Amino acid sequence: MSSNGLAPQRRPAILLDKDGTLIEDLPYNVDPRRIRLAPGAREAIRTLAAAGHRFVVVTNQSGVARGYFTEADLAEVHAHLEWLIEDLGGTLAGFYACPHLPDGVNEFALECDCRKPLPGLIHRAARDLDIDLAESWFIGDTWMDAAAGRAAGCRTIMVGPDAATAHALPEGRRPDHVARDLRGAARIILAADAARDEAAERARVEARRERRSRERQSRERRSRERAQRRTGAAA
Ligand SMILES: [Mg+2]
Ligand SMILES: [Zn+2]
Repeated sequence: MSSNGLAPQRRPAILLDKDGTLIEDLPYNVDPRRIRLAPGAREAIRTLAAAGHRFVVVTNQSGVARGYFTEADLAEVHAHLEWLIEDLGGTLAGFYACPHLPDGVNEFALECDCRKPLPGLIHRAARDLDIDLAESWFIGDTWMDAAAGRAAGCRTIMVGPDAATAHALPEGRRPDHVARDLRGAARIILAADAARDEAAERARVEARRERRSRERQSRERRSRERAQRRTGAAA
């Protein structure tokens, strides 16, 4: 609930896996200086942001449970990604990381509901940010991303090398669409936006046509009735 007592308006988001999707996959790297946007990501973020989309990163970071780095290190990664996306005219509305792994070495060594392919992080993001999941997209480079996105009810796109064989995956792990990289994913999303806008415009035109036709019929009925009254009066 917002301060005016009304439920906030839910809006879609583009949920993104981090490694191998938004940025180049450098295993267990948390050094901002070594972070590079993945091929096609720059253009994709720019065009999607210009079309009004907001972004949310959803990532498995078992390096925390393995003791390779800390949640404070991840906060630096978050800040850097925020800066990269803002620099391209976009908004990183949220950064959600699962720090867990059952056979980790510290307090994060546990079974959780937030490690992809489970959809826990997506649901948390949706609650925090009022995301309309059915109108949202989840983009990632593995079947675990596709499975998490599907389980949360998002439309899904797989990018990267695994996308080539995604059609052979079992139903629950298969993405709705595949693309070479984020640039290709952006094209799919913008085409879907255009199709939705066209359908809405067709519905508006059709509604206007029906209203005019009803108005014409009632005008014709009234003039018939007037004509009948005149004929009756003359008789
Ligand atoms: Mg990945
Ligand atoms: Zn977790």
